[in-house]
Amino acid sequence: MDKLIHGVAADGMVRVMAAVTTDIATEVIRRHRTSPTASAALGRVLTGTLLLGSSLKDFDRLTVKIECNGAVGGIVAEADATGNVRGYVKNSRAEVPFNNNGKFNVRGIIGEGMFYVIRESGYDIGLYSEPYVGSVPIVSGEIAEDFAYYLAKSEQIPSAVLLGVLLQKSEPFVKASGGVMLQMLPGANPHIITMIEDTIQHAPHLTSVIGNKATSEDLVKLALGEINFKILEEKEIKFACTCSFDRAVSLIGSLGASEVESMLREDKGAVMTCGFCNETYRLDEANLQEILHENLD
Ligand code: ZN
Repeated sequence: MDKLIHGVAADGMVRVMAAVTTDIATEVIRRHRTSPTASAALGRVLTGTLLLGSSLKDFDRLTVKIECNGAVGGIVAEADATGNVRGYVKNSRAEVPFNNNGKFNVRGIIGEGMFYVIRESGYDIGLYSEPYVGSVPIVSGEIAEDFAYYLAKSEQIPSAVLLGVLLQKSEPFVKASGGVMLQMLPGANPHIITMIEDTIQHAPHLTSVIGNKATSEDLVKLALGEINFKILEEKEIKFACTCSFDRAVSLIGSLGASEVESMLREDKGAVMTCGFCNETYRLDEANLQEILHENLD
C-alpha cells in the first residue's frame, strides 16, 4: 500500500511531505490506459496533489487542475482527507517524442496554460461553502516546478518539490512513483534554505532512488541530506473514486422521464462512464423501468 508522510525538519522551520505512489500510478494507468508521457504527467500531478493536500481535514477536498494547449489537453487530480486520490488527463492516448535528454517530454505534452488549485470543504455532506481558488500560469510544464511556483506566488510559501514516475515497457508499466515537498515556514533560517537547495541540486535523480524500493522516509532524506526531521503522521493513500452504480442510477434519473423513456425505447438500457476513473456502469431495461416508476411515485 502506498504511504504519505508529513512532518517537520530543521527544528520546525520546514514542513516536510513525502509519498510513494507506485500503486496509485499503476492503478491510474490500468484504468485510463494512458500513453507513457501522459502517464508520467498524470502520475506526477496525482502525487503533487496528495503532497499539497497532506494536511486536509475531515471533509476537505483539494483539486489541482491544469488547463493547457499541449497534446494532453488538460489534467485533473483530486485528493481528500482520507488519503483517496483520483484523476485523469483529457487525451489519454496523446504522445510526444522524447526530449533532448532522452526522457519523457512532460513539458512537451503539456505546453502552455494555467495551473489551478481549488480548496473546498464540506461539499460531500451538503455543507457547501465558496471554494478557494488559486491560479498561476504554467511556468515549466514539468509539474514539480509548477507546484513550487504556485506555492511561492499564490500562497507565499517558498518550497522545493520533487516528483518522479519511473516507467517500464511491460506490465504493470510503473516501476516506481513518488515525490517529496518541502515548505519553508515564516522565519526559516536562510542558511537552512541554502543547505536544502544545495542538497537537492547535488542529489541523485528522484526516479533513480524510488526505483530502488525507497520508502517515503528515503525520499525525505534525499531532499534534506544531513538536516534532521521528524515524522508527525503517516497515512495510507490509494486511488479511489466516489462514483457508484447508485450514483449512475440517480444521474440518469435526473435527466427526466422523457429522456429515460427514449433510452428504454431506443437502446433498451443506458451506459455511463465515469470521467475520473473510467469505470463503466450499465443500466438494463429493468433499471430504467425502476427509475421511471420511482419518478412517477
Ligand atoms: Zn469514478
